[in-house]
Amino acid sequence: MSTLSFKAKCAMALCFDIFGINAFLRKQKRKQYNNNFIRVVNYHDTKLEHAKNFEKQLKWYKKHYVNVNYEDFCGFLKGEKTFFDKPGIMLTFDDGFKQNKTVGAKLLHENGFTGYFFVSSDLVDTDKYMTTDDLKDLIKENHVIGCHTATHHRMDVSDTEEILNKEIVDSKKTLERKTESEITSFCWVGGEEEHYTRKAANRIRSAGYKYSFMTNSEVLTQDTNPLQIQRTNVETFWSMALLRFQLSGFQDKRYKGKRDRVNDLTK
Ligand SMILES: [Zn+2]
Repeated sequence: MSTLSFKAKCAMALCFDIFGINAFLRKQKRKQYNNNFIRVVNYHDTKLEHAKNFEKQLKWYKKHYVNVNYEDFCGFLKGEKTFFDKPGIMLTFDDGFKQNKTVGAKLLHENGFTGYFFVSSDLVDTDKYMTTDDLKDLIKENHVIGCHTATHHRMDVSDTEEILNKEIVDSKKTLERKTESEITSFCWVGGEEEHYTRKAANRIRSAGYKYSFMTNSEVLTQDTNPLQIQRTNVETFWSMALLRFQLSGFQDKRYKGKRDRVNDLTK
């Protein structure tokens, strides 16, 4: 996969938007699956200064997708839930920043969306990150908390058993103790190809996670391996043209090589 600078990507996104290519590609994807898929996006921080822009994005999602709550998500993967008129959208947030609670969750609530928050267990209750009470509140409001390792660790082939235990197994237990809820989802850190490893994938499976999230851009279908759920990166400050470009399906094609290699390594 060739790298595209942010500036070049913005320019391309704007061209695609003006000439209707984003809309055309999105329509093709809908046709391909008869609307029966979920687009999973991943955000990071939800800063107050970008709240207005984030709200604009949420309004756009509302028009083109339907929200996927946790029950829908599990049901979809079991083949019990189907999307007919519009595809589903899942909004995930990595790293557990404080403003995910004070800004993000508030806007999600006002606009009827479920948030999936992936937090690093050792960062909970530290400066700039959410507290244990924040996580409990989110769960009460029907949002979902998942594990994003203990220390925001990028997996590496040199990882020892001890490291894998701490980052995958102990982190799950810590979050379960803090939230007093079962943690079923794991989310890989970084997303660069070298930070997916077979050893870590095996440990994620044996630790009892039901779902694992990656970042190699593809929609979730009923054939997707629940331990290889792909997401597409977006941010709250991005323009609508860039957001539509990311979600058009163009990135799904660009990431195919990397995605196939990572899926092969982690199956
Ligand atoms: Zn992260």
